[in-house]
Amino acid sequence: MTDIYGQLINGEWDNSGPQSANINPSDVSDTIGHLASATASQVEDAISAARAAQPGWEAVKLEEKKNILHAIGQELIDRCDEIGQTLSREEGKPFGEGRGETFRAGEFYQYYAAECLRQIGESAASVRPGINIDISREAIGVAGLITPWNFPIAIAAWKMGPALAYGNTVVLKPSEVTPATAHILAEVLNKHLPKGVFNMVQGGGDVGAALSSGKIDAVSFTGSVPTGRKIAQAAIQNMARVQCEMGSKNPIVVMDNADMDIAIAQSIHGAFGASGQKCTASSRLIVHEAIHDEFVAKLAAAAEAKKVGHALEEGTELGPVVSETQMDKILGYMDLAREEGGELVTGGNRLDRETEGYYLAPTIFTGTTNDMRVNREEIFGPMTCVQKISTYEEGLAIANDTDFGLAASIMTSNLKQAEHFKRNAKYGSVLVNLATAGLDYHVPFGGRNSSSYGPREQGEHAKDFYTIMKTAYTNPG
Ligand code: NAD
Repeated sequence: MTDIYGQLINGEWDNSGPQSANINPSDVSDTIGHLASATASQVEDAISAARAAQPGWEAVKLEEKKNILHAIGQELIDRCDEIGQTLSREEGKPFGEGRGETFRAGEFYQYYAAECLRQIGESAASVRPGINIDISREAIGVAGLITPWNFPIAIAAWKMGPALAYGNTVVLKPSEVTPATAHILAEVLNKHLPKGVFNMVQGGGDVGAALSSGKIDAVSFTGSVPTGRKIAQAAIQNMARVQCEMGSKNPIVVMDNADMDIAIAQSIHGAFGASGQKCTASSRLIVHEAIHDEFVAKLAAAAEAKKVGHALEEGTELGPVVSETQMDKILGYMDLAREEGGELVTGGNRLDRETEGYYLAPTIFTGTTNDMRVNREEIFGPMTCVQKISTYEEGLAIANDTDFGLAASIMTSNLKQAEHFKRNAKYGSVLVNLATAGLDYHVPFGGRNSSSYGPREQGEHAKDFYTIMKTAYTNPG
């Protein structure tokens, strides 16, 4: 594999453009390769290539499209060890998670391969006698896809699968933090797809800005709220459709009747999986006073037992965070929690390992309140804050008191509480006795408030974004 990650435009690679080093967060002495950033004119070329290829791709027979998407998925599944290793090396998640994410990406393509054959319209009676009405869906055209670094292959897959299945062509702008994984993905797609159907431009915010303000028909973005706001504003200038999936501040309400073992295991998984770098991370733990002290003691013991280390080392459970910038930001939130009056139970510091990397200890604060910034702003690291409650009603109110709304969970053995929470938590996903993170791929995913803008991703509902409806009237005479 090349160690320069450049642009793929109309089936051709172009590595010109300013380069920057891609560093391994587990070992900063390891330079994985170099990112070559796209210029504004390369972004335009990529959009033009996608535009030219779109009618041909939409016209490809359904079974042929299905077979192509299936083959892409199969290649990712077959190569999940190798690709997962690169992903873990550049992003820092433990190898098992890198491998699992690549496998899941393959499953997305295979799900949407089958979806190619499920494009079935509707018919309606007319209010006028003798007239027939058919309602069908067509591709929207060229989709710009802008993705973050925390799931570099899975998020691209859950956008690309439906975009391609419904006949659109694509320009992908992956995160500048994970260009190597994107490069391998692009090699796989380029092998299976006709020229111009899939194009990729590498680089940072300027490249993303050029894409979102370019002549595209839709932009699907996953990332932070401030970036989402800019992308939506840029896209609307061209009346392009916009879908934004952004951050959150996901709560778990732990009731006094909860199964303690389940509550601990799920809270640990939700707070510290992928070192807390998930939009669905369980960053607010809202715990009933009757079990608060036992819960915190057990949670701290489980956090301290986690092995933090090099992403590719056997037995590592938490890798480093992705970059120095992210590490400094998270350490800043640890300081802020102390300043705001939180009590540090465990962690709160950087860790030294054999190789120099961005390692942070899993961190828990107690004695926090919901008005503190650490409970209102997304931290995106291995840190969670505990709040104490006296009643279920108080827990629900705190859970709902947020600017976000991606996923909320309750730990309870009381059916009435579980059902009430499912109906009254103002979130896109609600879970009972499960962490806020770790969701299925064949059902809708998205949030409320600042967490999401536009239609849902994943499952068959993805077609609401990637297709446009047509209503046809016929007078058979
Ligand atoms: P980010 O917003 O910094 O960057 C995301 C992408 O947008 C990158 O490709 C970046 O280069 C690009 N970008 C930056 N500025 C741009 C601009 N002005 N115009 C166009 N593109 C621009 O986010 P990140 O740090 O890569 O990812 C972390 C964020 O992603 C967190 O907030 C997390 O919650 C969110 N996230 C959300 C979901 C979800 O589905 N809701 C999933 C994963 C991550």
